[in-house]
Amino acid sequence: MFRLMCVTAHPDDEAGGFGGTLLKYRAAGVETSVVCLTPGQAATHRGGAKSDQELAEMRKREFAASCELLKVSRPVIFDYPDGQLYLQNLNRVVYALTLEIRKFRPQVLMTFGSDGGVTSHPDHAMAGMFASLAFQWAGRSNRYADQFNSEIQPHRTQKLYFGTADFVLPGRQPITMPPHTAAIDIKPYFETKVAAFKAHTSQSPLFPLFEQNVRNRSERELFHLAAWTKFGAIKQETDLFEGVDESA
Ligand SMILES: [Zn+2]
Repeated sequence: MFRLMCVTAHPDDEAGGFGGTLLKYRAAGVETSVVCLTPGQAATHRGGAKSDQELAEMRKREFAASCELLKVSRPVIFDYPDGQLYLQNLNRVVYALTLEIRKFRPQVLMTFGSDGGVTSHPDHAMAGMFASLAFQWAGRSNRYADQFNSEIQPHRTQKLYFGTADFVLPGRQPITMPPHTAAIDIKPYFETKVAAFKAHTSQSPLFPLFEQNVRNRSERELFHLAAWTKFGAIKQETDLFEGVDESA
């Protein structure tokens, strides 16, 4: 069984950044997990919520609805504070993500690079940094050995990808992106990706901008292969599971 994990920062990242790819692989029988680090309680658009707590609850429900549309096998949402991932204790967050990897045992992990994706959000960058460490450490028997029991064992994920793009949004701070090494054709899944994004109804003021940004580029999601258990030169891929050992 192939398993694909996606580590994000906010509810809606799973749809906007990775939705087509999540759907495509699920349709091919791959088990999928999204681990979202915050419930998005610092969002500008608040959907009528009267407090951060109320917005967090609202956005958790929206995340569940989006993951339902994206047919995510195992959605997980944490309660780290939105907008403040760079202030969190690195060891604690990586510990939690390492445990998620050891539980789900993905062969492929996708997340953000240090650029923070097209929005350059610092939370995206931090999610990617935490996930990159967890990707490495989950496979080592000398990291967080207190997690081990009859079910939780070291797990070496084979490939790490950063979501990337071949455009930037106008009027933003400079973003230096990882070059894309994999282009995933998401044509058949595009409309469901948009629907999943729109399941985040508290964020509806963002919908027109989102649609405008993705409609012109609906055909594919781009990734950068950042680590692989195999050695060798990089080549352009059209499948994140290319060369992956299913039994591991
Ligand atoms: Zn985000």
